[in-house]
Amino acid sequence: MSNRVSYEQHDGIAIVTVDNGPVNALSHAVRLGLQSAFQRFETDDTARIALIVGAGRFFIGGADISEFGKPRSEPALPGIINSIEFGEKPVVAAIHGAALGGGLEVALGAHYRLALKGAQLGLPETKLGLIPGAGGSQRVPRLIGIAAALEMIPTGRVMPAEEALKLGLVDRVVDASDVREAGIAYATELLDKGAPPKPVGALPSPQNDPKAFEAARSGLAKSARGEVAPVAAVDAIELATRLDIHEGMAEERRIFHKMMDTPQRAALIHAFFSERKVTKLPALEAVAPREIATAGVIGGGTMGAGIATAALLRGLPITLLERDADAANAARERIAGNLDAAVKRGKLAHEGRERILQEHLAVVTDYDALSSCDLIIEAVFEDMAVKKQVFAELDRVAKPNAILATNTSYLNVNEIADSVSRPGDVIGLHFFSPAHVMKLLEVVVADKTLPEVTATSFALAKRLGKVAVRAGVCDGFIGNRILAHYRKVLDQAVLAGASPFDVDRALTGYGLAMGPYAVGDLAGLDIGWAHRKRLAATRDPRETYAEFSDRLCEAGHFGRKTGRGFYDYSTGKPVPNEDVLDILERERASKGITARTLSDDDIVRRYRAAMVNESARIIDEGIARRPLDVDVTMLNGYGFPRWRGGPMHDADAVGLESILTDIKTFAAEDDFLWQPASLLERLVAEGRTFASLND
Ligand code: NAD
Repeated sequence: MSNRVSYEQHDGIAIVTVDNGPVNALSHAVRLGLQSAFQRFETDDTARIALIVGAGRFFIGGADISEFGKPRSEPALPGIINSIEFGEKPVVAAIHGAALGGGLEVALGAHYRLALKGAQLGLPETKLGLIPGAGGSQRVPRLIGIAAALEMIPTGRVMPAEEALKLGLVDRVVDASDVREAGIAYATELLDKGAPPKPVGALPSPQNDPKAFEAARSGLAKSARGEVAPVAAVDAIELATRLDIHEGMAEERRIFHKMMDTPQRAALIHAFFSERKVTKLPALEAVAPREIATAGVIGGGTMGAGIATAALLRGLPITLLERDADAANAARERIAGNLDAAVKRGKLAHEGRERILQEHLAVVTDYDALSSCDLIIEAVFEDMAVKKQVFAELDRVAKPNAILATNTSYLNVNEIADSVSRPGDVIGLHFFSPAHVMKLLEVVVADKTLPEVTATSFALAKRLGKVAVRAGVCDGFIGNRILAHYRKVLDQAVLAGASPFDVDRALTGYGLAMGPYAVGDLAGLDIGWAHRKRLAATRDPRETYAEFSDRLCEAGHFGRKTGRGFYDYSTGKPVPNEDVLDILERERASKGITARTLSDDDIVRRYRAAMVNESARIIDEGIARRPLDVDVTMLNGYGFPRWRGGPMHDADAVGLESILTDIKTFAAEDDFLWQPASLLERLVAEGRTFASLND
């Protein structure tokens, strides 16, 4: 018996406990332990029913991801689950915390499933580029039907116990704190009733529903944008309609192994591990964060209201300061609207909304109200003079040791810090819009920022459910600096002959959630315009400046907020704004450019090469600590396709030499824009990858 799984027997109940903290992952030792526990159960004549439980906080969290990509070691999970399911005596699974992936598959091999209130269940394999590989795609449709399985498995959606009960994925949900006790009570009840084994695998194949499969596939053609695992999950579910459990599981396993070998699986695992590594800063290991009990926000516009909402949803009381009573009312309305949306999405109860608005949110116009805040985040207009005025007020009223943060997108955080008497307390906390939804938080560490201020910012990010990435001070930090660079490159591609709509199409085809011009419309074209105006005086004369975005702004077209930008939103559905083509034609004529056709592949190569080149500079300068920090930034804040792992992982997959060759080719058109980054040249010369810099 492995020491990760224990077997004990009381009054005819064999209790099989998986104990492999922190999440009871199904490592080799756990699989061995489960196998021998159930062999013992079969031959233990005094045991009449088995109960599977997890020790600690979870039932079973899933496969042991660290074993992925390594040689497979027996016993494999499907065989173990089959022997649990097709044994002669009944088996109960008692689920608390989470039963995910292989963990839920083990529970599906049991004959009866009990879940504690608050438990989460799901098959999130597609999120790691896989499909369920131990019967999940065959047993779930048998148990809850095709439509529900199609809604659950391809998306990898995790659901609460109550929903699992409604769907029939579990048999009972109880409000209890001790899973073992609850499991024993249920097992005793089943024994008393003489409940027989009830294998899910023995249920008949679910009725085929060709229309549901067709709808799932056409939906994925739009939403998956090149991601293969969700499509493979649909194929696997379909097998359940025509194969028996054993044939279905053999086919499912074949698809699972095929997925295991895809670059997408490797990319998604890279993303998963990078998000864990990125928040671990060796320099801060021994640094204790400051206590944050109350926070202030200055400015209640798009960002301030979003930041306040993010904090309020996580139980952090907020005092928000606006310029005057009207702006204060508008800010409160914005936050109330955000909370309404959270109620609609089921993230917040209606009473919770009321309590937050009445008890946890104060909207004020007087700085003195901020004097008790432990942290104050400024989110006023992107203007250095305005920001400095705000920080002068904060310097006056904030209590000693309060953290003073700025949400600036581009401005120099060192300059802001130096404008107050306590620069060590100043840091950049760059949230993304909408701030209560987007996961990314760039923590911009200025020259004089104290380590405990950085440590507190990372602790805050965790509390708010964000992924924090450390960034250094430069124009745009990590993400916006990369964005500004590839936008310049794409603007040149547009001047050369592509339309913004061609660029958006090519890049959504590559897997981006939205094309960069559509994103510009969403964020507001005025933001980039203000940034360009600010940089105009220091712009290098060798830069070819694309003017078409300025022309749109001059005409008052800022994107969605004005109803028009690169796209026209007047009919509800965005359609290309034809005026853009006229504006472009005029600009090309004035610059003596004859438009040519650029293929989608050409556009993607430019985008990729620009992003990799600027990222290499950012890493070399120490603005981003490692390539993986860039990957996490672009994945969580800029809609980069997760299944490509991030731009640095993708660059390694494509080959750095070929990207450098592209850069040199494009340099023939514009050798100022396309200067190869020296880090990239060094890596190519040494035959190394970006991944080699991650350790
Ligand atoms: P916004 O115009 O929507 O909101 C700014 C708010 O600040 C307004 O409500 C205004 O009344 C208030 N304000 C201005 N001066 C003030 C003062 N002196 N005191 C109190 N309140 C004041 O702008 P936004 O989009 O929320 O951007 C705010 C900041 O966040 C900017 O620095 C911006 O660069 C940054 N940012 C914006 C985004 C984005 O996508 N919009 C993303 C990240 C960061």
